[in-house]
Amino acid sequence: MFLHACTACERRQLIFPSQVTSLDNTDHGIEVSFTCWCGVEQHLLTGRAAATPRRTPAAA
Ligand SMILES: [Zn+2]
Repeated sequence: MFLHACTACERRQLIFPSQVTSLDNTDHGIEVSFTCWCGVEQHLLTGRAAATPRRTPAAA
């Protein structure tokens, strides 16, 4: 269960596991797909990889 701000209905609502339609492990993190209470499919990127800031090469 997590809080999500929907891009369609613009509401912040709790999303329950029963609303999750897929979980995908990607190089960028865990991509969670779920259906909002308004019926629109939403996506969320989570996990350690998503939280880690991108490292940029140091300017010399
Ligand atoms: Zn919504």
